[in-house]
Amino acid sequence: MIIKLKKDVDEKVILEIKEKIEELGLTVVENTSKEEIILGAIGNTKVIDIEKIKNLDGVIDVCVVKEAYKRASRKFHPEDTVIKIGDEVIIGNGKLMMIAGPCSVESEEQVIEIAKKVKASGAKFLRGGAFKPRTSPYAFQGLKYEGLEMLKKAREATGLKIVTELMSIDDLEVFEKDVDVIQIGARNMQNFDLLKKAGKLNKPILLKRGIAATIEEWLMSAEYIMSEGNSNVILCERGIRTYETTTRNTLDISAIPMIKKLSHLPIIVDPSHAAGLRWMVEPLSKAAVAIGADGLIIEVHNNPEKALCDGKQSITPDMYDDIVNRLRPIAESVDRII
Ligand code: PEP
Ligand code: MN
Repeated sequence: MIIKLKKDVDEKVILEIKEKIEELGLTVVENTSKEEIILGAIGNTKVIDIEKIKNLDGVIDVCVVKEAYKRASRKFHPEDTVIKIGDEVIIGNGKLMMIAGPCSVESEEQVIEIAKKVKASGAKFLRGGAFKPRTSPYAFQGLKYEGLEMLKKAREATGLKIVTELMSIDDLEVFEKDVDVIQIGARNMQNFDLLKKAGKLNKPILLKRGIAATIEEWLMSAEYIMSEGNSNVILCERGIRTYETTTRNTLDISAIPMIKKLSHLPIIVDPSHAAGLRWMVEPLSKAAVAIGADGLIIEVHNNPEKALCDGKQSITPDMYDDIVNRLRPIAESVDRII
């Protein structure tokens, strides 16, 4: 339930409402937008006497939120979420989050070389899997902790922040210490224990959409993280499984405006895993930026033919540079900067 209050409402009214609702066993979240103060009640709202609250001084409106996600809902938080690391805005306020790098970290030289090149092309984040969720147990599983150390070296060498996938609760502490943005991959989108633990961290979480997840299921996964106190969730549309076989997945481009309507959380697009095809990275990136995505995560490899994972969808650093240059005017046309 949402209770909208006037911006200049007496602080006592806010406290009174909060207390009354909390006494009934519900949780109250407070958000302030440009126009109003919003109190969101979470729990069994049927026990709340709506009329009584409506009649309090300073209350503009009371409405029931029928969606199962609450903290992730735009109704609870009308303005777009801006995510910062320290004082630095990493996403929101018109700034596109540009993440680039190899599917998997393969060696220190490889990851540092790619990091330097994508940085020169405007990326602010280096991606690279150290722990890889592979369909086959016989496929390359990633360099694990060694890979993480290589990512740290690349960060030291370039200043890029690192984004990498957390697969197990066992690695939570290491990731909390060493990683700037923690990715939760498509296959773990509904690993609820992992989501709850990620919700206890004070770190941005990049939450990829599950391979066959509906938008509501995806937002419920974000809700798991947020319900534990971490509101720094970045959603990532990476294509969904459909009957189409010419592409690896089908990029659900409509998910971007839909998420923007339903939620205040930022959404970025992964054109690499969506298409599975190198040549399609550019058109999908353009579509994503034009439709209002808040960033892109792109697989870039210095030698795609020899990549240990996802070479077919990886572009070279030169291709990345060209694509970013062609994206700039599109970004500007929707008031975004790269
Ligand atoms: C990845 O980003 O390397 C990855 C495995 O992505 P997804 O979880 O979207 O398949
Ligand atoms: Mn990959």
